[in-house]
Amino acid sequence: MTVKVTARGAERWKQGHPWIYRSDVAEEPEKKPGVVPVTDRKGRFLGTALYSPKSEIRLRLLTRGDEPVDAPWWANRIAESARRRNGITASAWRAVHAEADGLPSLVVDKYGPFVVAQLLSAGVESARAEIVEGIKHALQPEGILLRNDAAVRRHEGLPLEVVSAHGTVPETIEVVENGVRYLAAPWTGQKTGAFLDQRENRILVGQHTRRGGRSLDLFTYHGSFALHLARHAKEVVAVDQSTEALARGAENARLNGIANIAWREANAFDLLRELERRREQFDTIVLDPPAFAKTKANLERAVAGYKEINLRAMKILAGGGVLFTSSCSYHVSRDVFHAMLADAARDSGRRMQFLAATGAAGDHPELLNVPETGYLKGVLLRAV
Ligand code: SAH
Repeated sequence: MTVKVTARGAERWKQGHPWIYRSDVAEEPEKKPGVVPVTDRKGRFLGTALYSPKSEIRLRLLTRGDEPVDAPWWANRIAESARRRNGITASAWRAVHAEADGLPSLVVDKYGPFVVAQLLSAGVESARAEIVEGIKHALQPEGILLRNDAAVRRHEGLPLEVVSAHGTVPETIEVVENGVRYLAAPWTGQKTGAFLDQRENRILVGQHTRRGGRSLDLFTYHGSFALHLARHAKEVVAVDQSTEALARGAENARLNGIANIAWREANAFDLLRELERRREQFDTIVLDPPAFAKTKANLERAVAGYKEINLRAMKILAGGGVLFTSSCSYHVSRDVFHAMLADAARDSGRRMQFLAATGAAGDHPELLNVPETGYLKGVLLRAV
């Protein structure tokens, strides 16, 4: 089956964006997901793409060529993408970051000898068997788990499921990251079992942690930032609302022989208010909340939420203290995030130095001209 697109659709690929929307599709004879040849209205070949008949994003470009997209093709692309990660010393890293690595809607994360992958479109799901073969060939894992329970699959008319695709993947996998050990939970944890995108930011925060000081890690999940803070601080307060994540955090601390983290199950908004009222002070603070802006529609409320936690964090920052703050909301642009921080700094009455702006770790690249590939923003600030 060939899918035909309008001139505007064809122009998207020329401009370097891999998506063609439903409104730019001219003919789709068979509404069956798959890997399809794409032409313009006159029948001129444009490329081979993943086709999703139920999604607004109908086509995702795989190649401008017409070569067969079979298991060896996937193996080559995945191996090439993984090779670009050479030099990462951590034992868990993202081998394929979807669109940004030329493999739209496919995520492949490596956890030691295991792979956790996500097939996030109907098109890529239709190539599941070839992709699993490709991963086996390219990465030689002992097991492959498909974390196909991401909500975006609903837009594609796909079921949410977590299934093993090869070998066995254990309940937890130990990760080593810059000398810190932690347990990822591939079957039940968030994303593919851990937040690999903050890896470099956690190392940065470790470097800026006040020696012998007090640290606060808000939205700690299983303690990923807290463990890095604890190696330098005298004491760390690690806060999350998830009992299960905190339990794994405590286990992670034991794994590292770390005993200076107090795990607190609380709503970060409430706790910040309480800490401010009690005039507590911290030398190093980390804010890594979930995406407050899930859609464009609630952007304003989301920014208000970001401002509230950042303002309060600035208020309880000790003199000379450092705040690392981040947002993983795609809809909150870098400009909006920075403006919100400037607002919060003004209202807090603190003078804040801008030490660094960061993004996701290098194995989660952003593609210029494809803004959808970027979402994580981080800023390192110091109160003076
Ligand atoms: N910093 C972590 C990732 C944090 S993800 C890392 O680097 O691995 C966001 C976390 O915020 C989740 O664990 C979630 O349980 C927690 N969370 C969400 N809303 C919260 C709230 N209002 N108060 C406290 N924790 C919250």
